[in-house]
Amino acid sequence: MSSHRSSEPFVGEEGNASVKRVKKKWRAGVLGATGIVGQRLVHLLADHPWFELTEVAASERSSGKSYAEATRWHLEAPIPDTARNLTVKGLEPALDCDFVFSGLDSSVAGVAEEDFARAGYPVVSNSRNHRMDPDVPLLIPEVNAAHLDAIPLQQKLRGYETGFIVTNPNCSTAGLVLVLKPLADAFGLEKIFVVTLQAVSGAGYPGVPSMDIHANVVPFISGEEEKMEIEPQKLLGKWDGVRFVDAGLGLSAHCNRVPVLDGHLECVSLSLKKIASLQEVREALRNFEVSAELASLPSAVRNPVVVLDEENRPQPRRDVNAGNGMAAVVGRVRECPLLDVKLTLLSHNLVRGAAGAALLNAELLAARGFFKSRVAEGEQVAEPVAQ
Ligand code: NAP
Repeated sequence: MSSHRSSEPFVGEEGNASVKRVKKKWRAGVLGATGIVGQRLVHLLADHPWFELTEVAASERSSGKSYAEATRWHLEAPIPDTARNLTVKGLEPALDCDFVFSGLDSSVAGVAEEDFARAGYPVVSNSRNHRMDPDVPLLIPEVNAAHLDAIPLQQKLRGYETGFIVTNPNCSTAGLVLVLKPLADAFGLEKIFVVTLQAVSGAGYPGVPSMDIHANVVPFISGEEEKMEIEPQKLLGKWDGVRFVDAGLGLSAHCNRVPVLDGHLECVSLSLKKIASLQEVREALRNFEVSAELASLPSAVRNPVVVLDEENRPQPRRDVNAGNGMAAVVGRVRECPLLDVKLTLLSHNLVRGAAGAALLNAELLAARGFFKSRVAEGEQVAEPVAQ
């Protein structure tokens, strides 16, 4: 049997007249698979056209059990059959997969992700630990796909061979930056002032005690304002071939936890470098369309910003699943007496802000040839193909 290692589709055994195209899926592991974000990933991977879930890992509390036994499942859809009977492993970097997603608690994510990258696994992370590392792409494909050019330098600096780390932003930053991107491109941005109303699922499980959040608002989320003030600078900045150059924005964030299950609402005021009418701002948001490369990714939406005209939208219960949870929904675009424009936006913290974001990042990495099959030479019959 021939061994095939290029990124081209495998076309059957040499000399075989009835040549067939064989497509294999990339084999994915999920670290932190039992958590709120990990469960979303397991759910999204169940019918994925390019990826198949082969490994789940979590803490010692869970390892050795079946995934169904170890997990307090929170989604309405049942645990996928493909995951139910997988044995939960620990964090040793010896999993039978080509790459890993990480939905690990930040107390362990930093070291575990480095261990996996060093052992040769691409790590597609949700955790905060490596987001601001000077050699790690903090990625939203629609915003800064060019930041993936930092990966070869990361591998060189850290001595990683096939492994590397790529992260997605904090859940409230994800929706904000998706909306800021078309405005930055069309008009330039100067200052952004944002107040968030964030869902309880953003705190993981069990998260905020019910007696603290029921019929209440908690005006503090540890570390969140700092993340929202720093991460957009990297996301909207540039990779210059050696380092990430910040966007140089003035940014102030107030973060609040509210008794909503899923969906972070954000009230934003901003000043633009170029004068623009409200109509031009709405049009820039509405017309934001991804490139053909991104549009071909299974989790991408062609227009990732949805603009609503109703005066009382967006609302978490009604709008959180726009674009399968991958769109940011904008409403109430109006003049701001202090800055230039104000608007309200909503995004799904567990999809666009976590699992869906990581999945889209992995799809872009696969499409750009950053994944390598980890099946031993000789065992392999076909290289996975991303198309
Ligand atoms: P979570 O529900 O608390 O899940 C944490 C996961 O980490 C579980 O699978 C848990 O396994 C595992 N874990 C905890 N301690 C461990 C240890 N010592 N060794 C190995 N595994 C361990 O948290 P989450 O909300 O899913 O968040 C996961 C990560 O994503 C966090 O870093 C978070 O900041 C980030 N994030 C979350 C959101 C969100 O909206 N929730 C959005 C963006 C990013 P066990 O079940 O075995 O304990």
